Amino acid sequence: MTGYRNVNDGVMAAAGGRHVDLVAVSKFHPYEAVMDAYADGARIFGENRVQELREKFPPKGERPEGMKLYLIGQLQRNKVKKAVEWVDRIESVDSIPLIDKIEAECASIGSTMDVLLEFNSSGEEQKSGFRSGEELLLAADHIVSSCGHIVLKGLMTVGPLGGDEARIREAFTAAKELFDALRTAVQTATVLSMGMSEDWPIALTCGSDEVRIGTAIFGERNYG
Ligand SMILES: *Cc1c(COP(=O)(O)O)cnc(C)c1O
Repeated sequence: MTGYRNVNDGVMAAAGGRHVDLVAVSKFHPYEAVMDAYADGARIFGENRVQELREKFPPKGERPEGMKLYLIGQLQRNKVKKAVEWVDRIESVDSIPLIDKIEAECASIGSTMDVLLEFNSSGEEQKSGFRSGEELLLAADHIVSSCGHIVLKGLMTVGPLGGDEARIREAFTAAKELFDALRTAVQTATVLSMGMSEDWPIALTCGSDEVRIGTAIFGERNYG
């Protein structure tokens, strides 16, 4: 049993007919939990470590019908090859050297990769993501002008953790403004990914197109 159906019903009701994707974040949960959620209707899964996702999920092309796998955690350059072989999208792209590495690995195997650029909307030091809108838009330009094997799909952000509603709303509003600028500049950039178990209702009111939810679907993670 997972909470997928309840969470999905809640998200779809709050979206009010607007198309919103629900990414079921299965990190630290076993593949049996993934398959339970799949049976409940989940199709997109999110993981944050390359090694874990390769051990857990079958390779692309051998997964259950319609199942997609997104990488949502920080990616080191030396793991890019292993990531692009296994995932359908990388949502945590946060530097130009990382972009260049993804481009090179995809070019070498003749494939393309969908990516989101991650924005550090809360300004928290320990968070990953581009620190300013200017830097993020420069990275977007770089993809469009020099990366034939990358499709820029949009922007991802993680809100301030444990923040009060006003701070969360401020961060999500900043992300939405930057996303609007990105979408104007790049036609393929149509997805704004923000909202997790604690803050997805706020994210939806701020214009999110995709929420990434783990705990509310699968329960607490056991990091032990
Ligand atoms: C773990 C994680 C989530 C899901 O977090 P929950 O609070 O369990 O819903 C979403 N996005 C990212 C980037 C994560 O690392």
